Amino acid sequence: MKKLKQLILVPAMVCWFACSTLANAQTMPKDADPQLWSRALKIHRSAIIVDGHNDIPTPLVDEDFNLARNTIGQFHLDGDPFHTDLARLKASGVTGEFFSIYVSGDTLKTGGAMHRAMDMIDARNREVEKHAKLLSACNSSADIRQAKQQHKVCALMGIEGGYAIENSLHALRNFYRLGIRYMTLTHNVSHDWADAHADVPKNNGLSSFGKDVVKEMNRLGMLVDISHVSEKVMQDVLDISSAPIIASHSGARGVNDHTRNVPDAVLKRLAKNGGVVMINFFPAFLDARTNQEMQQRKEKLKPELNALQAKLKDSPNAYPQAERQILAQHPIYIASYTRIVDHIDYIKKIAGIDHVGLGSDYDGIPMLPAGMQGMEDLALVTFEMLRRGYTEAEIKKVLGENFLGAFAQAEKVANVRHRSISGDGSLSKLPK
Ligand SMILES: [Zn+2]
Repeated sequence: MKKLKQLILVPAMVCWFACSTLANAQTMPKDADPQLWSRALKIHRSAIIVDGHNDIPTPLVDEDFNLARNTIGQFHLDGDPFHTDLARLKASGVTGEFFSIYVSGDTLKTGGAMHRAMDMIDARNREVEKHAKLLSACNSSADIRQAKQQHKVCALMGIEGGYAIENSLHALRNFYRLGIRYMTLTHNVSHDWADAHADVPKNNGLSSFGKDVVKEMNRLGMLVDISHVSEKVMQDVLDISSAPIIASHSGARGVNDHTRNVPDAVLKRLAKNGGVVMINFFPAFLDARTNQEMQQRKEKLKPELNALQAKLKDSPNAYPQAERQILAQHPIYIASYTRIVDHIDYIKKIAGIDHVGLGSDYDGIPMLPAGMQGMEDLALVTFEMLRRGYTEAEIKKVLGENFLGAFAQAEKVANVRHRSISGDGSLSKLPK
């Protein structure tokens, strides 16, 4: 038994030190020109990469997930559903990863939204404390640039589901003080002050309190995130936001007409606002055919999956694995990772190269595009952009510089506003 453990641990440790080489070697596409691939890796490794959305905090809290365990190479062997762990974070080349403080819309019925957000923030903080050699708790665009110099990964935080503030601007300010640097105004359900993409509108966009929330976020330097909101909310936010906004994990509706994606009219306005749409990697958001086949399969397997859910009701953690096994018996078309770059191309055409970034939604989505297994395969996106003729400067903008520019501008707007409020030019009035 002990020997077996050693056999597993030794390759894992070797990978820990050399995993970027290992992972990148694993992900080189079969038909790739090796010279182009090696150029792509060089660009990828030298870039500051920011990923707008990662849901690993949910299993960290709910399943006591161990971020330190090395799952590289074992993804399909042991049925591990996760895209993120420390080795993969390192192998991905990401400098700034937004840990999603995701609060389910169910809390609108059950209560406890703010409590849940607190649990998630603590989970991020504990991971940073446990793995201080690799992770750091970052709060600013300057922190992300510094982390690149220090070969560290910034574990940033964004709240997903604006009801986490429980209708309190006091809570919003405290969330900022705890390190929250963006807030997705809704998840999939409309709530007291903002309407969601997949729900009936309650406020015709943003309510008057919702507008106050956006203004206070601008004043604090917390980015407003329009992923998941209705198109009317997107437009309302653009009417009032004095800082650049983001869509932390969405695509372009012009490529796949899905309500989770951003329509052209918003893309054009977002370009003037200085904002960034960070592309979600979920194949059903990327591609209409995948979405359609996924919906059809869901409908077809509904009775079987409902029965499974009832059978496993006392062990909810067993359900996802069992569900995956059933889904695997009914394969559908899964769009390739190159579809991510179709969305980048499109946003470049409509809004300009300065307004697109990456927001993978790792561990918040049930599958990645064909060709990707986890975070370690991120360099494929860089390779595909290079293959399509993007310049190094353009690639670096998409990988992180566009987000950093928008974030820095939001910080600047916040400082100016604090100065105008305090009246003495002092930045000491900034919430810390
Ligand atoms: Zn989401």
